[in-house]
Amino acid sequence: MKDNIPTVSIQNVSMKYQSPEGEIEAIKNISLDVAQGEFISIVGPSGSGKSTLLNIIAGLIKPSAGKVLVNNKEVTGPTSMVGYMPQSDQLFEWRTIWQNIILGLEVQRKLNDENKAFVEKLIKDYGLYEFKDKYPSQLSGGMRQRAALIRTLAIKPEILLLDEAFSALDYQTRLIVSDEVKQIIQQENKTSLLVTHDLSEAISMADKVVILTKRPGTIKSAYNISLTCDSKTPLGCREAPEFREYFNQIWKELDVHV
Ligand code: ADP
Ligand code: MG
Repeated sequence: MKDNIPTVSIQNVSMKYQSPEGEIEAIKNISLDVAQGEFISIVGPSGSGKSTLLNIIAGLIKPSAGKVLVNNKEVTGPTSMVGYMPQSDQLFEWRTIWQNIILGLEVQRKLNDENKAFVEKLIKDYGLYEFKDKYPSQLSGGMRQRAALIRTLAIKPEILLLDEAFSALDYQTRLIVSDEVKQIIQQENKTSLLVTHDLSEAISMADKVVILTKRPGTIKSAYNISLTCDSKTPLGCREAPEFREYFNQIWKELDVHV
């Protein structure tokens, strides 16, 4: 095993965007290590650079300073090691669910029998099999999110980046889908970073919650989460006695009222 090497190592990363109105400093000097199999939630005010950070880890944008290592190798562009589920599900409306889900495999020329069987299993497990020939517009929000997740998992990434992945869903569906997603992530032993504005979701899903300051985003504090709960599902863990304490502490740090 790669004992002490974190799966993701964010090292002094800063990002300044150039815009017509001038320079926008989105994040400033962020450093964070994520261990193999660890689940980290990132919370922070709107505009604190959460999506920017995920884009940098995914290799979609290059930081103005600092670097990100994935398995000890500097990120210089997108790779199949990292699966990114962006804020909107980004399903293509003119492709069927099946065609959407296999898109990543197609692009990477990995659409072989083995991978097809893997995707088919995911579709069955997550209740979309009967819908595989439908178009995205024929599906509910929750189903679309699941399809987007399966598309992300199809390329077998080691690391999952989830940006407000459940925010388009109504509350009830969000609870169910986040439980399902957490279960899949645990089964497949993925390393995950979840950006969310839902503090309950952040605490109930993660091993650690990282709080960003308002723009430019820096790490304000981080909490290791340890919840006593029988069922290890996020929904069950919301009943844990420690849950409220974490919630109240982190809520105070979020400065949502200012
Ligand atoms: P969050 O996801 O936390 O809401 P973002 O990472 O989307 O924050 O954005 C952080 C800041 O950077 C915001 O002020 C946003 O307007 C700005 N920003 C994001 N992307 C760009 C871009 N491509 N060009 C200029 N400014 C940007
Ligand atoms: Mg965002």
